Amino acid sequence: MKKIIVILTGGTISMYEDESSKSVKPNRTNPLLNKADEIEKMANIVFEAPFNLPSPHITPNEMIVIKNIIEKYLNQGDVDGFVITHGTDTLEETAYFLDLTVQTDLPIIITGAMRSSNEIGTDGYYNFLTSIRTAVNDDARGKGVLVVLNDEIHTAKNVTKTHTSNLSTFQSPQYGPIGIVTKKDILFHHRPNLEAKIPIKQLSKRVELVKAYAGMDSSLFHILSKMNIDGLVIEALGQGNLPPMCLPGIKALLDKNIPIVLVSRCFNGIVEDIYAYEGGGVHLKDMGIILSNGLNGQKARIKLQVALEITNEHGQIDALFLQ
Ligand code: ASP
Repeated sequence: MKKIIVILTGGTISMYEDESSKSVKPNRTNPLLNKADEIEKMANIVFEAPFNLPSPHITPNEMIVIKNIIEKYLNQGDVDGFVITHGTDTLEETAYFLDLTVQTDLPIIITGAMRSSNEIGTDGYYNFLTSIRTAVNDDARGKGVLVVLNDEIHTAKNVTKTHTSNLSTFQSPQYGPIGIVTKKDILFHHRPNLEAKIPIKQLSKRVELVKAYAGMDSSLFHILSKMNIDGLVIEALGQGNLPPMCLPGIKALLDKNIPIVLVSRCFNGIVEDIYAYEGGGVHLKDMGIILSNGLNGQKARIKLQVALEITNEHGQIDALFLQ
C-alpha cells in the first residue's frame, strides 16, 4: 500500500453545523478522523494536524508550516504523496504557494468542502476520499499541486473559487480542469506546463493587492507609498489599463523602487501592452510596471511575495511573471 501523508489544517471540511442556529464552526474533534478506518483501506495514512483554522485565518506563517511538513517527509523518503485539507476561501493561495515552492514529483492534493460534516449533502468526506484516490494514482505524479473537489482535478495555478456556496465552486476559467474523478477511475486529459520552483525558506515580504475601478485616483497609491510595503499587485481594467488619475500615485511607488505587478480584473485572458493612451498598458509598462502572464490578483500577490524572497531586481521579477 502507498504511504500518504494527510495534513489537516481546518476549514469547513473539518467543521460542524449547529442544528438550531445553522451556524458552522470547528469542534474539538475533527470529523475526518472519525472515518479514518475507511481511508486506511486505501493507503497507509499518516495524519498531521498542525492547526485547525478557518482559511481566512491562514497567513504566510501557516503556509510555511505546511511546506515544512511536506519537506520533512520528502527528506525522510518513504512517502508516496500528500493530501491537504483546507478551508476553501484561501485554498487557492496555499495551493499555488506550495506549487511554486515545493520541489517534488509526488502528488500533492489539496481539498476542502462547501458543506460541513453534518449538513445534508455534505461534500467533505467525499472530497477527502477522492483526494486520497487521486494521491495514490500513478498518473497524478509530476503534475504539480492539484486541487480536487466535486469530482474535478484542477491545477493550483489556474483554479479559483468562483461561487460563495455552490459545490462546483472551484473552476479554472479559460482552461478547465485537467482531469476528472469517476466512480472507478482517475482520468487526466491534459498535462500542465509546470513552473520552475522557487526555493525559499520564509515568506516575509509585505505585498498588497488593490483593484482598479472607473474613476479611481491616486489616493490609495499615495497611502501605500507611505507604508512599508515591499511590492504591489494591481487588478487593472481589461487588457491592463488604469485610469490616468492613478498615475501620480503609481509613480510615487515606482520612485521608491516598489515593484508593481499588473493583472486584470477580468477572469479570462492576460494583460498585455496594447493601449498607448495615458494609463494604457504600453504607458504602464514604459513606467516600469511588470505585466503578469494570466494569474489572478491573489495568486500574483503570492508569486510576488515568493519572488521577493530571492530577488528585487526588476528584470528577474519580470522574467518570473512571464513564465
Ligand atoms: N470559510 C470557510 C474557510 O475557508 C469556507 C470553507 O472552508 O469552505 O475556512
